[in-house]
Parts: sequence; structure tokens; C-alpha cells
Amino acid sequence: MQAQRIVIVGGGFGGAFAARYLKRYAPPGTEIELINSTNYFVFQPLLPEVASGALMLPEATSGNSGWKTK
Ligand SMILES: Cc1cc2nc3c(=O)[nH]c(=O)nc-3n(C[C@H](O)[C@H](O)[C@H](O)COP(=O)(O)OP(=O)(O)OC[C@H]3O[C@@H](n4cnc5c(N)ncnc54)[C@H](O)[C@@H]3O)c2cc1C
Repeated sequence: MQAQRIVIVGGGFGGAFAARYLKRYAPPGTEIELINSTNYFVFQPLLPEVASGALMLPEATSGNSGWKTK
């Protein structure tokens, strides 16, 4: 059988967790590509703390250098 390629556009909660799930459960050899407009993940529930100055923005984000950006 030919290898499958899955492209996920958007690396927010939905896309990042879909990619993580597929990486674990997709058939071996499946290529999973996650495309996001940035190379970092924003943990949105912490944004009010960033807006109030209780946290700095890097504390609410995590880098994902392996992501393809568009
Ligand atoms: C301040 C705040 C607090 C929240 N608190 C909670 C909470 O406590 N509990 C809870 O369950 N939910 C919370 N939410 C809601 C939750 O964050 C969203 O429901 C969730 O992020 C939606 O996930 P998503 O993957 O659909 O979109 P997003 O997480 O917004 O991801 C979309 C991604 O697509 C990327 N993108 C956009 N356009 C393009 C493009 N053209 N090409 C490539 N990439 C693109 C963006 O960069 C982004 O990474 C909160 C939201 C906010 C704003």
C-alpha cells in the first residue's frame, strides 16, 4: 500500500493535538505535516495573565522549531 501523507493546517490546540494523536496511531510510514503561521504554540488560557503583566509572553508560548510555517 502507498504511504499516506496528512497535512494539518493550523498548529493551535486542534492541529497540534491532532498531529500528536496521528503520530501515535496512524499506520507506520504515514507522513504528517503540520503547517502553522508561526513556529510557536500560544497557550491561550494564559493570555489574560500576559495582558495584565503577571506573565511575560514567552511564558505563555512554546517553540516548535520542527513546524513548517506559512
Ligand atoms: C484568552 C483565552 C483564554 C482561553 N481559555 C480557555 C480555557 O481555559 N479552556 C478552554 O478549553 N479553552 C480556552 N480558550 C479557547 C481555546 O484556546 C480555543 O478554543 C482553541 O485554541 C481553539 O483551537 P483551534 O485549534 O481551533 O484554534 P487556535 O488554537 O486558535 O489555532 C489556530 C492556529 O492556526 C494558525 N493559523 C491561522 N491562520 C493560518 C494560516 N492561514 N496558515 C497557517 N496557520 C494558520 C494560527 O497561528 C494558530 O496557531 C481560550 C481562548 C482565549 C483567547
